[in-house]
Amino acid sequence: MLTRRQWMLAAGTLAASGTLASASEGAETENASAKNEVQFSRTFPVKYDVDVFIAGGGPAGTAAAVAARKQGVSVFLAEAQSCLGGMGTAALVPVFMQMSDGVNFLCGGFGQTVVDALKKERLLKGPATDIEALKRVYDALLKEAGVDFTFCTTFCETIVSDGRIDCVICVAPSGMFAVRAKVYIDCTGNGDLAVRAGAKFEKGNAEGRLMPGTLCSVWSGIDWEKWKKAPRPQGVVQPQGFRIKQAIADGVFSVPDEHFCGAFEFGGDLGGANIGHAFNVDGTDERSVTDALITGRRSMREFTRYFNEYLEGFENAQMIQTGSLMGIRETRRITGDYVLSLKDYRERAVFEDEIGRYSYPIDIHPLDPTSEGYAQHRKEFDETFRYKKGESYGIPYRTLTPAGFENLLTAGRCISSDHYVHGSVRVMPGCYITGQAAGIAAARAIAEKTSVHEINVKALQTALKDFGAFLPNC
Ligand SMILES: Cc1cc2nc3c(=O)[nH]c(=O)nc-3n(C[C@H](O)[C@H](O)[C@H](O)COP(=O)(O)OP(=O)(O)OC[C@H]3O[C@@H](n4cnc5c(N)ncnc54)[C@H](O)[C@@H]3O)c2cc1C
Repeated sequence: MLTRRQWMLAAGTLAASGTLASASEGAETENASAKNEVQFSRTFPVKYDVDVFIAGGGPAGTAAAVAARKQGVSVFLAEAQSCLGGMGTAALVPVFMQMSDGVNFLCGGFGQTVVDALKKERLLKGPATDIEALKRVYDALLKEAGVDFTFCTTFCETIVSDGRIDCVICVAPSGMFAVRAKVYIDCTGNGDLAVRAGAKFEKGNAEGRLMPGTLCSVWSGIDWEKWKKAPRPQGVVQPQGFRIKQAIADGVFSVPDEHFCGAFEFGGDLGGANIGHAFNVDGTDERSVTDALITGRRSMREFTRYFNEYLEGFENAQMIQTGSLMGIRETRRITGDYVLSLKDYRERAVFEDEIGRYSYPIDIHPLDPTSEGYAQHRKEFDETFRYKKGESYGIPYRTLTPAGFENLLTAGRCISSDHYVHGSVRVMPGCYITGQAAGIAAARAIAEKTSVHEINVKALQTALKDFGAFLPNC
């Protein structure tokens, strides 16, 4: 984060035109080189001057963008990849987790819109998500809503003064530029914008350890009819049923990883696979992500052998593609005005300021490849943290408002929760719920000319209900 004062010292002055001006252009090295650092000051054009800036176009960012725009505010969204959808597209995550609690549809609003649009747009006929169709759906929904967005555009820095973000700097093929907005929404998954602005955060469990990631993949040559007739595993997470323990004992895998969430039928002989783990990967460290991608790609040779030799219906399976984005389950959680906790999850909490309710079990993958870890994961996911039909927990608005910033919101997997509830709310439907709330809250803050912490929450809830949100308690 650069404070306004630091920036002005580095840049010389701020031009009245709104352009960030520097006394001398270009990289400055002066004394910094002695410390093996460089100082860098440049003049950047303010390329977008909008009401709402959103960093990241995953499930949370797309929901926030459409919801904000539908309230009549202007929106610019920067997406680093070449498609919208984040983990659900670029990382090839093949299915949505539950959108309902078994009685109520919890994902009303943007989630419902995506589901309806996907039904019309899909070309593949299987039960799993048609990932290319999902990309087209997001493109179309944002275009139709009038959201301005560009791909290959990475947010990289903020300029903050007195708890207010003045503008952000992005880098794109055209160069670096500034975006000025009234409200900023961090939907980067990792909470990059909030952290660059100086927000407090937590990362991982009490020891700072992170859930493993997974490099998802697409396969062809699967005989789905044969697979469906093969003996089915019991329970939801039951790797023994997939003979993976046998394959591990036979030395097929270099890491004794029992993780097999599954191969999901795309249609024809195609399937998407959420298999294997990248242990200790840190999604906020590019070196760590690079190593995980390389190891994950290499492991596909082992999975090909496992599929072909151990799984009925997969004898002729061939791996077609791995995700262009590493599948990252957990990094930072930005500390907001309220931290949603395991206690709230257990109590099926109701909040006066709730912006939605959700019900997915706490799903914390084992941090190490041990049989005890997998057994604990299975027990937690299938029993300990599984709600009965019709049960859900509330998500308060205060989980989206990072402490100390007037015009900053978060949505998606970086919202303010503890390590446990993060294991539930992080999945895509949860991100739609928090994304649309952040988008509408940003518009409310602009309409009320107030800080995101001070908005009229009843008016937010009314606007959310009008948008289709499930809010039975208000
Ligand atoms: C292996 C794996 C399996 C999963 N399985 C499921 C499942 O079966 N069902 C389910 O519902 N959920 C699943 N999830 C969880 C879910 O996919 C993610 O938690 C969810 O996508 C998070 O949404 P998000 O919008 O917060 O972040 P992301 O999906 O991570 O999207 C963030 C977006 O921001 C962009 N971005 C990041 N930094 C910047 C920047 N500086 N500037 C511009 N853009 C930036 C990224 O490119 C990305 O597009 C899985 C996750 C993983 C990793």
